[in-house]
Amino acid sequence: MKTASITGSSAEYPLGKIVCLARNYVDHIRELGNETPAQPVLFMKPATAVIFDGDTIRIPSFSRECHYEVELALLIGRGGKNIPEEAALDHLAGYGVALDMTLRDVQNELKKKGLPWEIAKGFDTSCPLSVFVPAEAVADPQELRLRLEINGELRQDGTTDHMIHPVRRIVSHVSSLFTLEPGDVILTGTPAGVGPVCSGDKLRAELVGLAMLEVTVE
Ligand code: MG
Repeated sequence: MKTASITGSSAEYPLGKIVCLARNYVDHIRELGNETPAQPVLFMKPATAVIFDGDTIRIPSFSRECHYEVELALLIGRGGKNIPEEAALDHLAGYGVALDMTLRDVQNELKKKGLPWEIAKGFDTSCPLSVFVPAEAVADPQELRLRLEINGELRQDGTTDHMIHPVRRIVSHVSSLFTLEPGDVILTGTPAGVGPVCSGDKLRAELVGLAMLEVTVE
């Protein structure tokens, strides 16, 4: 079983479900030509999709276009159901950075047919995940900065104050649909600048000043 860990702590969390938001930054919605949803758009990745710093992304043979999406990751430390927004941050054990690797060609076909996205989003190695920093280290989760470099070139640079649904609301909303347990992870959507990766690319994702992740594309 894969586990999430926290900087400076011996605590380990067996990874549970990974709930992901789509379309949570206006500029990213525009770049893909999507509509802004009234409610968060959700999908899940299985825990088997997770890889860690230093690991390798392997693109399935049925895709020709795999995109990176850098995202703020939330680690649930205390479970709950119907968590109110005011208490939502108390349920977080840590903050980290993740990549929501997406088979864009496959996802576009699924979207056209009105089918679920999991084949495009949940493949093995589709969720590179950093070590988390303790939640106490973050005073305000809406004042964080995400960056992604590929082969040393900046591709994504966004701040969490541009989220449509802030972290408190995301945790509350997700918990109204699915009981949250310690070790569950929530990915909170990507800012603009997504694009394809190529074989041999080195991806460096950063929650600036807090967490870092480097992975290579096979
Ligand atoms: Mg995403």
